[in-house]
Amino acid sequence: MSILTYKIKHNRDFTEELRKATHIANYSLKHRKCRTTKEVKYIGLKACISNQILKKYGSNKKLKKVSKVKLTINGYFIQADKEKREISIPALKLKLPYLFNNNFIKINQVEIDNKYVYVSAEISDKSEIKVENYIGVDRNTTGHAAVVGIPTTGKVYKLGKKAFHIHRKYKKIREHLQKKNAKKQLKKIRRREKNIIRDINHKMSNKIVKIALENSCGIKLENLKGIRNNNKSKKWVKKNKSGESFKSSINTWEFYQLQSMIEYKSKICGVPVLYIDPHYTSQRCSKCGLIGIRNGKKFSCPHCGHVDHADANAGFVIALASPVISKSNDQSLIDRDVSEGSTDTPLLETQRLMEAVA
Ligand SMILES: [Zn+2]
Repeated sequence: MSILTYKIKHNRDFTEELRKATHIANYSLKHRKCRTTKEVKYIGLKACISNQILKKYGSNKKLKKVSKVKLTINGYFIQADKEKREISIPALKLKLPYLFNNNFIKINQVEIDNKYVYVSAEISDKSEIKVENYIGVDRNTTGHAAVVGIPTTGKVYKLGKKAFHIHRKYKKIREHLQKKNAKKQLKKIRRREKNIIRDINHKMSNKIVKIALENSCGIKLENLKGIRNNNKSKKWVKKNKSGESFKSSINTWEFYQLQSMIEYKSKICGVPVLYIDPHYTSQRCSKCGLIGIRNGKKFSCPHCGHVDHADANAGFVIALASPVISKSNDQSLIDRDVSEGSTDTPLLETQRLMEAVA
């Protein structure tokens, strides 16, 4: 079972309801034990909504301050008409047409801010397909963001070249704004960059899962789990050929975002995902397995004479390496994606991907 979140524009003004919801959230933080909607009835929000807000803010002991409260409605109070393709939320007299795939089992809940409705829908996963071979995905900080190697066919896919250019472009804009100390604009620019990268990650992950399906392969990734504990530095350190490490300009979240997208889309499509030890993947020769020479984007092996594009070689090495960790059924990866609120278009692409598999 997976949960996907769809974003729909509602074109309604919920300022008043959101103000009431914030009021209730503050009340809930103040009176932690308050769990009954009767106590906050005077605020004037529908009980089914205030109940969810009390639950959320009353039970989370870590929460100290209320910000960006959304109207939350349990799936129990939502009707979905699959024929009309319409979701209706009687408590808010809201009817919403939807475009996403009809293959959901049920709607778990919706969250509403002043612009969008975030619909969380439950989707059944395909049972995992049996595979003999794997494709390898090498993630990079320069050049292509992901390079896929398919040892069974010898084919290589280079994806996400745009990400590198986007970073370079936005870095210049950021530096310029930093000099001017334009904080508000800086924040806006950062958000825009993040959205573009998110789109790229959606496209890449869709493509990677599609490649795996077309080749009847599973997916192997480098296990970069360590970086999660190292999150504070926000940098991913990868060893290069000569053993010295260089700090990447790309933030950790990007790698995680791509990884979590590959994971949840693979799960929906029944594609197995395995992780391998990242040590020496960029240095090992995909033909003979010995350590070769990496010079920029060029790889050459003094042992067997193999010469290849360094990223392509790494992709093959990853695909052929023995796994250290099996697929992490890490729900938090999925949750993270959901909580960020997903964008329409890429998810529609995911839907198309799922339809192609079905
Ligand atoms: Zn070799």
